[in-house]
Order: sequence, then C-alpha cells, then structure tokens
Amino acid sequence: MKVYRNLAQILTLKSAHAKDGRRLIPADLSLIETGAIAFDESKILLVGPDADLPEIYHSIPAFDGKGHVLTPGLVDSHTHLVFAGNRAREYSARLNGADYQAIAQNDGGILHTMSKTLACSEDELFTASVKRLERIMSYGVRAIEMKTGYALTIEGEMRLLRVAARLKNHYKGQLQIISTYMGAHAVPAQYKTSAEFVSAVVLPAMEQGHAEGLIDAVDVFHEQGYFNSSDTETIFKKAQLLGLPCKIHADEFQDNGGAELAAKYKALSADHLLKVGDAGIAALASSKTVATLLPGTAFFLGKDLPRARAMLDAGCKVAIASDYNPGSSHVDNLLLVASIAAPSLKMNQAELWCAMTLNAAAALGLKDQGALIPGHRPIFSLFRAEDLAEITYNWGVSLSRPLP
Ligand SMILES: [Zn+2]
Repeated sequence: MKVYRNLAQILTLKSAHAKDGRRLIPADLSLIETGAIAFDESKILLVGPDADLPEIYHSIPAFDGKGHVLTPGLVDSHTHLVFAGNRAREYSARLNGADYQAIAQNDGGILHTMSKTLACSEDELFTASVKRLERIMSYGVRAIEMKTGYALTIEGEMRLLRVAARLKNHYKGQLQIISTYMGAHAVPAQYKTSAEFVSAVVLPAMEQGHAEGLIDAVDVFHEQGYFNSSDTETIFKKAQLLGLPCKIHADEFQDNGGAELAAKYKALSADHLLKVGDAGIAALASSKTVATLLPGTAFFLGKDLPRARAMLDAGCKVAIASDYNPGSSHVDNLLLVASIAAPSLKMNQAELWCAMTLNAAAALGLKDQGALIPGHRPIFSLFRAEDLAEITYNWGVSLSRPLP
C-alpha cells in the first residue's frame, strides 16, 4: 500500500464522475485542498483531506506531497504515433501558399508518410516510437491511443499493430497503450473504389489482427473521397461481430452524418467534428459516444475550431486529444493543445480537465479510471504546483514530475 500526504490539491472529479462527465460546472472538479490518498496496486482505497486521514495510515511511510497537485492520469485518446519521416517541407509549402493538391503531387501528404514508414524495419519504428513516448510521458500522460493506417496493405498494417504490441509490453505498468486498427485511413490508387479496398485489405487485416490479439479498437476515416457511410457500416458491423469497439474520424471536412453513425454503432468516440451539425450533436448527446475534439489540427491547418460550447451545452461527453501525426497536427503535447484551445472553446475548468482525463478514458473504453475515487484504478499524474490552474496557465511548460 502507498500513501501520499499533504498534497496541495487533489483533483478527484468525483462530482463530474457522478454526472457522467456531462453538463459540468466548475464545482464538479471536486478539488480537495491539502489532501491525502491511499492506494494499493489495483485500486484507490481512500482519498480526502489530510487532516481526516485515519490513524491506521499514519504509520505507513508516505510521500510528502507539499507543493504538488495530483490529478487523474492524463489520457491522449487520439494519435497516429507510429510513423516514420516528417512533413516539415509540406508544412513550409503550405505556409507559402501551396494547396493540398500541389502538396500531394510534390511527394507530400499521407503517401509520403506511407513510403517512409514502409521503408523502416519494425525495430526502427519501435525505437522512433519509444523516443516519442518518453517525451509524451514527461508531460504527465499515463494512457495513449495509437492508430495504424500508414501501410494500407495487410502485412504492412500487421507490422504497425505488432510495433504497438511491443510498445504495450515495453511500457507495462507505466503507460497504458490502446492499439487502434485504422486500415481505413485512405484508399490506395490501385483500387477502383473504396469498397474494393475495404473487402481486399481493411476487413482481412482486421480479422488477422484480431485473431492475433493485437487490436483494441477499430477506426474509420469517414470523409468524402475516403470512406463513405456504406464502407463505414461494413467495417463497423465486422468489428462488432469480432467484439471490437468502434471509433470514427467524423465530420471534419463537412457534415456528412459521421456523428450520427457513431451514435448508431455505439462507437467509443466520434473525433474531429469541425463541421458537425445540430443533428449530429443531438445524436452524440443522447449516446455514450464521446465527442473528441482535436484543436491542434484546426490550429495547424488554419481551420476554425469546433463548436465545443454547442456540444457541451447539449450534454455531450467531450474529450480533447492531440491528434499527434506528421501531417495535420505535429504536436505531441496534449496539455499545450488544451491550454491554448480552452479560452477559444470557452470550456470551464471542470470541462477542460474532464476532457483530458475522465472523458478521454471513456473514449478509449478504459473502465474505472479518470476520477480519483475509492475503487478506481490508481492512475495519476503529479505536477509541481500549488493550484490546479497553474498547470494549464503555464502553457508550453511541463510541471509534471514522475510519480514517487
Ligand atoms: Zn486522426
């Protein structure tokens, strides 16, 4: 058993948890000042003011948390972390006025990342991913999702799933890794239709990855020119048959019913939602599907931010993630993205912290975590601060420190 005492603040999110992460007011942070927490390997035993810590815990050598804030573990619930190469040249071309088509014709776009990724061995991809994850953990992230989708062949996607599995093993006990299969990321040129690619590659690779126990969730890039609703339903039906939860890249370029599809198939999350309409918002609000916002992508591409307030006020469960990827959001720092986005998205403190913890955990299907309450798993982030607000107030500066 471990005990932390005298923590300047503990963010429990007890009330936010009771409200299922929806319609939150600042008081739903359920902050404890000068707090103590006791936990064993699998669960939190007790949390409350240090002054109320029962006698029996006093004899246990405790970490002195003076000058620290403890929060539920940060969760980055949407990344494309396993890739090779970078797209700095494309970024620069975009700043200089090149459009998407010009970039694609000039060895840019996802095809560039695909060729670089295919040219790397599994060992090289593993090593590059470890380097990225070490930095991400230094920000206090304790759970992260990573998607495949930079191979788009059966064997190539299997390789990416194997790299994710190796990472999972490597970080056991330190970092939870959720491996999402996204064979439906783009349609390679040799296929006449998206449907043809779905049946030739997307479904067989999903079956194989599942048979080898390598897939935690299935995602689809549901956008015009990529995968339509019929493709998406085919993929979701197959995933459900295999018992795999679904996720969806929804309504980023235009409102094409992605949010409604997510609700219909009880997806864990619908992500992006830059153009989601009122019907999509209503569908999400009356479902358990998390609305995951990726403001980093909007910043990086110079697009308008999503209508967060409309989603929050309608009663959606809202999460924020980095969308870390080499093309449209080359940022690995979830806290930085959230700090910059929060004032524009007009999110209150409870909504903001829930978006990076409780609701983000739900977006990955992670149970019994995201709030620091007895019985929940002991997954925390620890920051050198006297007040929770300091953590996002100091944007771009990591106040996180390793757990004692
Ligand atoms: Zn994405």
